[in-house]
Amino acid sequence: MDLRKGLQHTMKKNLEDICFDIEPNTMNYHATSPEIVMTSSFYFDSFKSYSRASHDELNSFMYTRGSNPTTLQLEHKLAQLEGGERCKVFASGMGAISATLFHLLSSNDHVVILNTVYSTTLSFLKFLEQYGVSYTLVNSLDAHAIERAIQKNTRVIYTESPSTQKFEIVDLEVISKIAKNHHIISVIDNTWATPLFQRPLESGFDLVVASCSKYIGGHSDIVCGALIGSKDLVEAIEKSGFVYLGATCSPFTSFLALRGLRTLPLRMKKHSENVVYLIDALKKDPRIQTIYHPYSQQHKLAKQTLEGYGSLLAITLVDKDIEKLECFVNALNEYLLGVSWGGYESMVLPVYKGDNQDSIEKRGLDITHTRLFIGLKNPQILVDDVIQALDCAYGK
Ligand SMILES: *Cc1c(COP(=O)(O)O)cnc(C)c1O
Repeated sequence: MDLRKGLQHTMKKNLEDICFDIEPNTMNYHATSPEIVMTSSFYFDSFKSYSRASHDELNSFMYTRGSNPTTLQLEHKLAQLEGGERCKVFASGMGAISATLFHLLSSNDHVVILNTVYSTTLSFLKFLEQYGVSYTLVNSLDAHAIERAIQKNTRVIYTESPSTQKFEIVDLEVISKIAKNHHIISVIDNTWATPLFQRPLESGFDLVVASCSKYIGGHSDIVCGALIGSKDLVEAIEKSGFVYLGATCSPFTSFLALRGLRTLPLRMKKHSENVVYLIDALKKDPRIQTIYHPYSQQHKLAKQTLEGYGSLLAITLVDKDIEKLECFVNALNEYLLGVSWGGYESMVLPVYKGDNQDSIEKRGLDITHTRLFIGLKNPQILVDDVIQALDCAYGK
């Protein structure tokens, strides 16, 4: 049976329903909320059942480092949402990303990295160089440039769309076709858009990785990650990357992620509306040089590929003045200064940390490049706050 086709069908119709669905209970209490099976180990009532489980550890409950009923509920939901056959949940987004690359790559293998990817993903690939893995960065949306970067030993094309920092999007169908033609495995980080707004497996990608610490958790209270794809690929990564590296998600975290999913459709709708409102309100502000977000920069392609907008964006100031930048960041009242995003609260994060001017230039970024995450508040409040902070910075 082509499970994926079946899932895609349900999914197109009922993405919201998948988020809202009550998880099956084993205890028959008719609990509306999923069970938190907080155990490390599972015991067996006979040698026979122990023996059966040991022969199929991936699909049995033996030890929570391998699998757990609460986490499995989350895996079922995320697989359905992304339209994949199987999902494995990890202790963090990086847990999922490192396990995937660890499994897929051997010495002398090569990776094509398309678009700017999450900085820790890139540093993990740098770390793998000591084991003989190499990579090429491609920052072009041109198919020929991608083809040119492919070598005989290229095993993986890894991308993030929209990209980290400049939020540029690529045409997923074009990329996955190139990968297929060269028998290369394609992997995409889908954290920004969530499966509600972008389903890369439907565009032909082999694997989706995501940080559930962001929108899926949705309340800034968990760190969690996921990998979704075909049964064969995900199981192979489970056997090596997941089991060996041991980035197991706590059942309690899985419970919080399931709770986050309940409101994901509502939150994403609001995030999407808020970010469009904010960009429309700020795009003519003479003190802002660029707003990096698909809605302002790649409107047409965004409309084709995304079903809504994530609310993480970046701006640069017209004046390349660190004092003004500092003033702007300090004057914001509605945006918390800190890393991460995806909760109800708005966040601000300048790339400038006080001493990293050189590395910012090397990365091709502006010294005033500042990330904003648009939370769930009334968007006019969030716009007014940016404007008053710019007034402050520009000495009005
Ligand atoms: C946060 C993030 C990650 C890493 O996820 P963690 O859960 O923090 O390990 C990876 N990719 C993107 C795009 C992210 O925003």
